[in-house]
Amino acid sequence: MTRFNTQLVHGLPVNDNNTGAVNPPIYNSSTYAFESVNAMPRWDYARSGNPTRDFLEKQIAQLEHGTRGFAFASGLAAIHAVLSIFKPGDRIVVGKNIYGGTYSLFNEYFAERGITFEAVDTADYKALDDAVSGRCRTTFDGRQLEDTTPAKAVYFEVLTNPLLQINNVNRISAIAHRYGALSIVDNTFVTPYLQRPLDLGADVVIHSATKYLAGHSEVNAGLVVVLDEEVGRKVYFAQNRFGGVLAPVECNDVRRGIQTLALRMDRQQSNAQSIAEYLLVHPLIKTVNYPGVRGDTARLLADNGLKGFGGVLSFEVVPGVDPAIVLDNLKIFHLAVSLGAVESLAELPCRMTHFELPREERLKVGITDELIRLSVGIEDVTDLIEDLGQALDKAYDALLASGAEEDIFGNLSAGLFA
Ligand SMILES: *Cc1c(COP(=O)(O)O)cnc(C)c1O
Repeated sequence: MTRFNTQLVHGLPVNDNNTGAVNPPIYNSSTYAFESVNAMPRWDYARSGNPTRDFLEKQIAQLEHGTRGFAFASGLAAIHAVLSIFKPGDRIVVGKNIYGGTYSLFNEYFAERGITFEAVDTADYKALDDAVSGRCRTTFDGRQLEDTTPAKAVYFEVLTNPLLQINNVNRISAIAHRYGALSIVDNTFVTPYLQRPLDLGADVVIHSATKYLAGHSEVNAGLVVVLDEEVGRKVYFAQNRFGGVLAPVECNDVRRGIQTLALRMDRQQSNAQSIAEYLLVHPLIKTVNYPGVRGDTARLLADNGLKGFGGVLSFEVVPGVDPAIVLDNLKIFHLAVSLGAVESLAELPCRMTHFELPREERLKVGITDELIRLSVGIEDVTDLIEDLGQALDKAYDALLASGAEEDIFGNLSAGLFA
């Protein structure tokens, strides 16, 4: 058995390569010739299966310690396929603070087709237990429901976006299993390098491979890994019938990205840690959301079965400072949504990634108008810190020019000592 870093580079051996090429070939063929009418070829049509996709699907199953993997044209196509294994009348408990597109897919598509979604703070184990058991039920739109059938699944993300709260896969999965529900984990922010949810009790792992796994802002891709054969059969049905499969060339892009996952993530994490520490003591910053600056990090990692906290962080500027001026003046960070790539990105969740969430809902979960999210890349961290520093200086200059100095100093101390 090879180890993780070797598996990243090599995947499983490719046996049909006659040329000596060190990379698995890209099979750009949608159809495959039968040897005879009676033959049952391994490959017949590319929606049903393609050797390039098969390589990637086997590799992600290996990396996540699952039994079967699936590659989709995007993270949302993957989530759609997984959710399609449920039926009208089924109830799914969903962690608060899930990816906006997922939230919308659940509430504007699946909810209209008879599946009930219930949002719960998955760090509140009592509330989670009540919700999964069916004892206490509140839908996304705040309605109280009465029947007491247990939920069919719990769906959550390990590190929440953009506040970087940690969901404990072990504890949450144990509660799900108490009532026969599946534990479905979106592991996009964490990757199998930092945690393997299936080892901690989850049943299904989903990735937007667009982010860390592919890692270069080149492709949209989604991956799913399952443990159970029957669940795998249903996900395969959805993959083959909806047909949201990942194209061979893009499967190869994701495969190539995966080869350097550990190297990239190591740098992204150490850069994110340094930036979080810099922001923590910056006078224009009110809060920093990154688990690496939350105190006893060794315990936080051990308790949650994590090897690190990834490369995304967020922070709030003190009231009076305009976060748009900070963002508009960044020179190395691109002002862009998405995350997990080699280049650093910055964005304003209230206007960009989370604009669809009603303001009241946003504020309730802590996504304020002053919150900036960073996806930290692999650049020299000194350049990144200098970039943030000069952009914050510009925002401070603008504040002074607006004549609101007194205000800021009042707010500054409130921010520093609150
Ligand atoms: C981006 C993202 C998705 C959606 O993936 P796409 O590839 O954009 O379809 C789902 N979950 C999380 C956590 C994401 O960051």
